[in-house]
Amino acid sequence: MENIDFQDRNSDLLARDQDHGDDPISARDSDLYRGEYVQTFVEKWDELIDWDARAESEGRFFIDVLKARGKTKILDVACGTGFHSVQLMRAGFDVTSVDGSAAMLAKAFENAKNRHMILRTCHADWRFLNRDLHGKFDAIICLGNSFTHLHKECDRRRALAEFYAALKHDGMLILDQRNYDAILDNGYSTKHKYYYCGDKVTAEPEYVDEGLARFRYAFPDKSEYQLNMFPLRKNYMRRLLSEAGFQHVRTFGDFQETYQEEEPDFFIHVAEKT
Ligand code: SAM
Repeated sequence: MENIDFQDRNSDLLARDQDHGDDPISARDSDLYRGEYVQTFVEKWDELIDWDARAESEGRFFIDVLKARGKTKILDVACGTGFHSVQLMRAGFDVTSVDGSAAMLAKAFENAKNRHMILRTCHADWRFLNRDLHGKFDAIICLGNSFTHLHKECDRRRALAEFYAALKHDGMLILDQRNYDAILDNGYSTKHKYYYCGDKVTAEPEYVDEGLARFRYAFPDKSEYQLNMFPLRKNYMRRLLSEAGFQHVRTFGDFQETYQEEEPDFFIHVAEKT
């Protein structure tokens, strides 16, 4: 497990601009995220998610779900800039923070440090999680619409198998996703109430088909970034979780247990091994 200063690491890669090639909508690879979270985009991520607004909209949802089942040792596998790792540490959980992007991990470490916390970090790709990280966890969280970065089904299955293996025998995985069914079937609309809460930033799809959701993130300083993601349908994701071995999968819509299918912006799957 690493706990290091990432500042200089991969500095060439991180300093680069995003590059989706000549035909951006054909860029559909699970390794894309490495070149998408460039340093300048990472620096802006907290403007996009707005920690205070997000903390207010999520409330105690994740804390309550984890506490209700007595989970204490948590692995945040997509820590990004550290929002959930910090929230959970504050609430008394023992947290380890993973991300495949060195720039994100460095930012998470800095964000936690500014809040007088030392993050336990590990730079790892989900597909090789147990090669780079040791130990078993009570729960894994994979939040902020992160799993959507895996473009190939074999990578999705592999990542879920790695998550499953990193959990104790009665472990739990909490994984969320955008409501892509609504986007694919009815077009895009959002109340922007949850998750990406910064009100001066726009996050909208610029191209969508069954195999790609390409989103544009536009910031007040006129800078723009794109993410090419795989549009996970809700029932497909639930099936993948079951087929990975999770016995019980409950799906919430914008933190509610009952909802109209097209209503929520996000779905949250709570998958349990036993
Ligand atoms: N959870 C954070 C949040 O909610 O703000 C970050 C969400 S961001 C949309 C997705 C994160 O997943 C990025 O930090 C990215 O580096 C990470 N990621 C994507 N694919 C990954 C992979 N295969 N292995 C490890 N991390 C990955």
